[in-house]
Amino acid sequence: MKYIDIHGHINFAEYDKDREDVIKRAKDSGVGIVIVGTNYDSSKKCIEIAEKYENVWAVVGMHPITNEATDGSIEDEVFNDEAFRELAKNPKVIAIGECGLDYYHSKPEDIGYQKEIFIKQIEIANSVNKPLMLHVRNGLGTNAYEQALVILKEHAKVRANFHFFAGSIGDMGAASKLGCSFSFTGVITFARNYDQLIETIPIDRLMSETDCPYVTPIPYRGKRNEPVYVIEVVKQIAKIRGEDQEIVATKLLKNAVSFFGLNI
Ligand SMILES: [Zn+2]
Repeated sequence: MKYIDIHGHINFAEYDKDREDVIKRAKDSGVGIVIVGTNYDSSKKCIEIAEKYENVWAVVGMHPITNEATDGSIEDEVFNDEAFRELAKNPKVIAIGECGLDYYHSKPEDIGYQKEIFIKQIEIANSVNKPLMLHVRNGLGTNAYEQALVILKEHAKVRANFHFFAGSIGDMGAASKLGCSFSFTGVITFARNYDQLIETIPIDRLMSETDCPYVTPIPYRGKRNEPVYVIEVVKQIAKIRGEDQEIVATKLLKNAVSFFGLNI
């Protein structure tokens, strides 16, 4: 293993027809895969897939936008604490999430429930001593990163990674002080507003992800995204930082191994 995609959704229906090929393409290029659940069923599916393959791991939890069902249907799902606690114990589960606060896609009345299930998931992570995979988006005139940090400070006993980090340099500094890390997707290959964050961040707090099937990197724009394309994200991180690609790849993999406590 040379690279790792620490956040993607090959559990989604988009991959039902060729999931095995997608995993094989990643494996053949030395790419490890972390599959992230967004509700109970999709989390269970992550485990089922991860159990079949070496170098594939699962993250289980509930996305703050709770009506994001994997089949594209709109359904509200009530957070089942007991059921998620059972999933969290599975040895292939390496983190809890994606959980957090999404003010961008929400109405003000949704925030209370988001905070409630975020805290429940932090408690699950504490109880199994596995890190958190965070989804945080600003909106409604609110800095969701600040709010998330307040909650983490009060409840979390484990480390946390901000997936698809889109906060400010200031938010990054505050989260860094709490020991948090940050991962970036293929968006950094075609949007320049992440460059300063990537240049500034200490390399030991940085990880690579695709968030597939979304945000396909250059040169694959227009195609469905998949874990093997994380190589383009790593290349771009190295380019932005002006560092050697091989060294950056090794370092980002090492960061993930240590963050998730991977046994490789
Ligand atoms: Zn995601």
